[in-house]
Amino acid sequence: MTRVVAKFGGTSVGSPERIRHAAKLIRASADAGEHPIVVVSAMAGETDRILGLAGEFGAGLGDVETDVALAAGEQVSAALMALALREEGLKAQSVMGWQAPVVTTGPSGSASIADLGTAVFEALLTEGVVPVLAGYQGIDAGARIQTLGRGGTDLSAAALAAALGARCDIYTDVDGVYTTDPRIEPAARRLDAVSHDEMLELAAQGAKVLQPRSVEFAKARGVPMRVLSSFAPPGEATGTDVVAGDPIAEKRLVSGIAYARGQARIALLGQADAAQAAPAVFEALAKAEVGVDMIVQAHARTPGTANLEFSVAHRDLQRALEALDGLGAAAEIRSETGLAKVSVVGAGLRQRADVARSLFGVLAASDIEVKVLATSEIKISALIENDAVERAVRALHSAYGLDQV
Ligand code: ADP
Ligand code: ASP
Ligand code: MG
Repeated sequence: MTRVVAKFGGTSVGSPERIRHAAKLIRASADAGEHPIVVVSAMAGETDRILGLAGEFGAGLGDVETDVALAAGEQVSAALMALALREEGLKAQSVMGWQAPVVTTGPSGSASIADLGTAVFEALLTEGVVPVLAGYQGIDAGARIQTLGRGGTDLSAAALAAALGARCDIYTDVDGVYTTDPRIEPAARRLDAVSHDEMLELAAQGAKVLQPRSVEFAKARGVPMRVLSSFAPPGEATGTDVVAGDPIAEKRLVSGIAYARGQARIALLGQADAAQAAPAVFEALAKAEVGVDMIVQAHARTPGTANLEFSVAHRDLQRALEALDGLGAAAEIRSETGLAKVSVVGAGLRQRADVARSLFGVLAASDIEVKVLATSEIKISALIENDAVERAVRALHSAYGLDQV
């Protein structure tokens, strides 16, 4: 019998009504002869609320106790989902990360999954019981609870599907992956299928419909993934298949536009010996666990000196500045906040060098200043003012013909 891991995100379990509807979708899957296994997120808004409470005590994402508090969000929805499935006449049982166990490694607040025990799930499935795993959480080698980074229930689902040899259905509040965020651009089109690589790049650049690490995992382990709406009536959901291989990707130049808010820029001005200073800078930032994104190095006006600029997540800015403090890496350090990154993603970009130029043109025509530009094989990103994100997304979406079939 086909095993299906069905993951429900925050909005999809945001109220007793939504949980009941999700349970009906699972009931339909069981009636169709499938073996459903459910993975749930915390109810919408719950993770932010708990983070706020931990913040009252000066603890942020990355503190071990913050993770313990956060895991409670998913614990509540797993129990409620099990109850809702019982209402549907199914046998169901909640499973917390530590009970599975989902074994984690790495830093608190953004741990990764090292191993996932299947015995509990196999036993429940044999007894005809629907397991309901609390997503986003696991337990490390020291028996401490950890969480998997924002959006991490997607990773729990992908890992569980891989471990159980199941398909992975991601039920969310949109009916698939679109050419850009449909909440910003109503003309965005749903993609019937997207390759792992395209999806990985879209997710990495901010399209939050799937957590990047879940796509990485699905790709590495060959897990078939589908994104579909939890709002559709039972048995009627259509969505986007996330599949292996490039063939679809190669057919289109650009597959989508992604954006990420909450960016900041750091400029190290007047570096006397840039070749020496740069490695020390990035080493200090890596040690402070600051992810550095777009990097530009250029000659400064004073002969023999250089400027080094890069972007970091706004939430990491303070930590980054502290790490750079006293390093003596530059004559002056400046920072700027209120920025966002907008990216054009497409496997076809490999063959098209002119896309960078046209991106400048499109944004300039909308009066949007590009502060930093970065390109890779299959994406081009621009750092811009946060206030300009929506205009930039719409302008690029239309300029690259994504609103046309
Ligand atoms: P969940 O709580 O179910 O995990 P998320 O909020 O994490 O849901 O992700 C779904 C959201 O992702 C959508 O509501 C949509 O606004 C956003 N999104 C961003 N980019 C895209 C895209 N390219 N296609 C679809 N949705 C997108
Ligand atoms: N509840 C967590 C979050 O809001 C995990 C998830 O929803 O996937 O990030
Ligand atoms: Mg999500």
